[in-house]
Amino acid sequence: MSIQFTKENRLFIGGAWQRTDATLPIEDPSTGEVIGTLAAGSAADIDAAVAAANAATTGAWGKLTAAERGRILAKMSTAVAAEAEALAQLEARDVGKPLKQARADALALSRYLEFYAGAADKLHGETIPYLADYTVFTLREPHGVTAHIVPWNYPMQIIGRSVVGALAAGNAAVVKSAEEASLTALAFAQIAQACGLPDGALNVVTGTGEEAGAALAVHPGIHHLSFTGSTSVGALVQAAAGKNAVPVTLELGGKSPQIVFADADIERALPFLVNAGIQNAGQTCSASSRILVERGIYRAVLERLGERYRALKVGAAIDDLDVGPLISAQQKARVESFRSLGCKDGLAVAGEGNIAASAPKGGHYLAPVLFADVPPDHVLAREEIFGPVQVVIPFDTEEDAVQIANATDYGLVAGVWTRDGSRALRMARAIRTGQVFINNYGAGGGVELPFGGVGRSGHGREKGFEALYAFTRLKTVAAFHG
Ligand code: NAD
Repeated sequence: MSIQFTKENRLFIGGAWQRTDATLPIEDPSTGEVIGTLAAGSAADIDAAVAAANAATTGAWGKLTAAERGRILAKMSTAVAAEAEALAQLEARDVGKPLKQARADALALSRYLEFYAGAADKLHGETIPYLADYTVFTLREPHGVTAHIVPWNYPMQIIGRSVVGALAAGNAAVVKSAEEASLTALAFAQIAQACGLPDGALNVVTGTGEEAGAALAVHPGIHHLSFTGSTSVGALVQAAAGKNAVPVTLELGGKSPQIVFADADIERALPFLVNAGIQNAGQTCSASSRILVERGIYRAVLERLGERYRALKVGAAIDDLDVGPLISAQQKARVESFRSLGCKDGLAVAGEGNIAASAPKGGHYLAPVLFADVPPDHVLAREEIFGPVQVVIPFDTEEDAVQIANATDYGLVAGVWTRDGSRALRMARAIRTGQVFINNYGAGGGVELPFGGVGRSGHGREKGFEALYAFTRLKTVAAFHG
């Protein structure tokens, strides 16, 4: 098969592609041009998708063995890898991300499919020693219909870690993709269909959060909800799902620190310190938006970071420079307001990137900026900006570093740079977060590594084998046999 970009997109419900009267524009963030339309799914479309998913759980999909499910996912993994370039081109155009990042996302989706294909038939319950005359065991059963509300920043990766795990565990999924970027979610549905995923096992409803998303979160026919997005909307959907006592996984925002001690390998750290802040134009939940540096090396590290910033080039996704555009004019205005606040409050700019002359005029470009000597209680050091803005903060002692690292309401990821192994482990224990990286940041994004937050960064874990536990429910069977 070959993924084609179609200007008019449809909903994918019960294995059929359906039109809607209402549509949403698709904008290319690199040019600001409208390049097509998305179907604007309604509450009625969500009803139809949930019904189709429910039917799939007792139909052809529900009757497959775990190994058979795994085989379909493995086939999809191969197909995604074969289509990786077409998927990357689509994602680059839709999200504005530089092609190398879009290619990495497509390969990550293939890898999620490979990992969960292999895991599908290795998920099982246990036997429990109990009273004489009893045999007790647990069954891991799929929830039934899982709902997945997906943001625009990494559609392929988030589908990989959320939807694919749910399918591997035997659920049928309803995906509400983001209004700003849905093209690869629809392409994923095409691939699933071509690879023989039974009708209704996967449904994709594009549309607004306020209509389609809200209808899905409160739907009495869903049995689990995975939400990835902002903390404010996460709180809304959790409350909505709570009306039906539906379990929820929330993957929300962050304000993740990297902490650099004076004994660190600075040459190794430097690219991680900058890239983790500007990747995907800073529109990454696990972006490292705070850099904490021990005072003894603070000025020297700041100078090196500034040099790197001055070399950053911003341009169209297809030009594949260091940084692409922001997703929308609205997002650009929001990030600009944080930058202006930093300047108004007299924060020093230690480095700024450059917008390439080739960047199309209508695109949503913003030069990345690095602010120095930022007080830990300043709004730029506390709030998620979701753009290419990093702050650098000096610290004096290990305790000081922990205190600053833990001084936000978020807790998603942290990086610790030191050659002192004992200190690295003390820091890993002391930081309030979901993941800690020692002498690296992100570990290459490994699909095997459980991921999720604490506090306002959310709860529950996706990725790795761990995710499969959330996509199943446990049933205990106690048999008395005399
Ligand atoms: P968002 O919360 O605005 O939207 C996310 C999704 O929710 C979209 O599909 C949207 O249509 C839907 N939505 C909006 N309003 C809704 C409502 N009332 N009911 C139901 N659904 C609704 O977030 P965004 O701006 O698309 O994404 C950016 C945010 O996502 C950032 O805060 C970022 O940190 C976070 N994020 C977190 C992770 C993670 O894994 N922790 C990953 C990616 C993004």
